[in-house]
Amino acid sequence: MSKPKEINVLGINFTNINNKELISQLKIDSHNHSNRFIVTANPEIVLYARDNPKYLSIIESADYTIADGIGIIKGAKILNTPLPERVTGFDTLLSLLTFANENKKSIYFLGAKSETLDKAIKKIKNDYPNLEIAGYHDGYFTDDSDIVTEIKHNKPDFVFVALGFPKQEFFISKYHNLSPSIWMGVGGSFDVLAGTVKRAPLFWQKHHIEWLFRLLQEPTRFFRMLALPKYLILIYLKKLGIDKK
Ligand code: UDP
Repeated sequence: MSKPKEINVLGINFTNINNKELISQLKIDSHNHSNRFIVTANPEIVLYARDNPKYLSIIESADYTIADGIGIIKGAKILNTPLPERVTGFDTLLSLLTFANENKKSIYFLGAKSETLDKAIKKIKNDYPNLEIAGYHDGYFTDDSDIVTEIKHNKPDFVFVALGFPKQEFFISKYHNLSPSIWMGVGGSFDVLAGTVKRAPLFWQKHHIEWLFRLLQEPTRFFRMLALPKYLILIYLKKLGIDKK
């Protein structure tokens, strides 16, 4: 039996794909100039989408919804419909930067604070000198028009949008038909590239406590992180057949 293309976790359809398969597919998509929309979803996003029909329909319109967050992998396993592995937005971003560098592809970077974005762009220019920067703009704007005009005009191969959820998905959903690019919401990735926020070392990632590392770095995330236990309770209710959504 062929594997299902999607795995449903509490109402969200995740693409049943591992890191290697996703990158191979995106390379093909990029060479074909296919318009693509990638959502990188974690438990917090799943819960938000359950309560926000508009956001849910945007996620449903994505071409790939990848399991960014070990909670999704654990949830899928508990529900007896396992996903192959965690596919993070940040790792996908790094692989695509490498691919863009090797193939002289162009990228538009949108999001983060101005000084963070400047640092991230400097690092990208240094580490990936052959990729073409089609433009960049910080994520604190009131008027979209300059950004949209630049993307429409330059038609970059990739558009990485780091506005955090749900803003980045709303932005991509509104504009992705303007340019045949691969559009991906990348959350706080520019902060990590800039060095403003540190990524959890491998030990924390391997022991599935990346969330704790993040909490220690950014204690203000505490209330956001209460989504995790709530998500797990819903997973068990679903397993018991009590949650019908
Ligand atoms: N951000 C932005 N514009 C906004 C709100 C947030 O550019 O109006 C940026 C913020 O500076 C940070 C990223 O979006 O770089 C959000 O990072 P976070 O780790 O919170 O992402 P999430 O977990 O929400 O996807």
